[in-house]
Amino acid sequence: MIGLGSNLGDRAAWLRRGVDQISEFSEVSAVSGLLETAPQGGPAGQPAFLNAAVLVRDPRPLEVWLAQLLRIEASAGRVRDGRWGPRTLDLDLLWAGSRSVASAELTVPHPRLLERRFALEPLLELVPDAVEPATGTPYGPRLSQLLDQEATRLADAAAWCPAFPG
Ligand code: ATP
Ligand code: CA
Ligand code: CA
Repeated sequence: MIGLGSNLGDRAAWLRRGVDQISEFSEVSAVSGLLETAPQGGPAGQPAFLNAAVLVRDPRPLEVWLAQLLRIEASAGRVRDGRWGPRTLDLDLLWAGSRSVASAELTVPHPRLLERRFALEPLLELVPDAVEPATGTPYGPRLSQLLDQEATRLADAAAWCPAFPG
């Protein structure tokens, strides 16, 4: 599961482009609805984000995926400007079923997944019964504790990303 975020320029267009480029690398199984969310961390006053998630079923190593996602971000003109700063396109590996990784470059499930409504809500839309791979703990109940984080659902997948399955 890949989480997508953008808060610069034509945000929905960046997310669509991200989905397009992921689909050139692997078959996209499903795309979530589109959320608009308040920035968490980073510089004060940065613009609101659009967020979504994309599900792919792909056996390649997660390190291969990370390298590909970083290439796609770079091709979207992503400039890393301070921690959690504004960006055209952010692609995070959120969760990968029973697989997990913990290395200097890559941690899966994403270490902040369970603190972020903008990541967990789209993930659960696509895989409602997702669990923490190490413990089997379901993620679903966690979302109810994050609903004080500001998020507005702007569109279903069919409306914002019609080229891909919803
Ligand atoms: P956050 O990780 O809190 O969402 P961010 O997305 O702004 O912050 P980036 O600058 O995009 O952080 O990424 C920094 C590095 O995080 C990447 O170069 C990558 O090596 C590392 N990383 C570790 N785990 C993951 C993961 N699950 N998905 C994407 N990147 C990861
Ligand atoms: Ca991120
Ligand atoms: Ca990232």
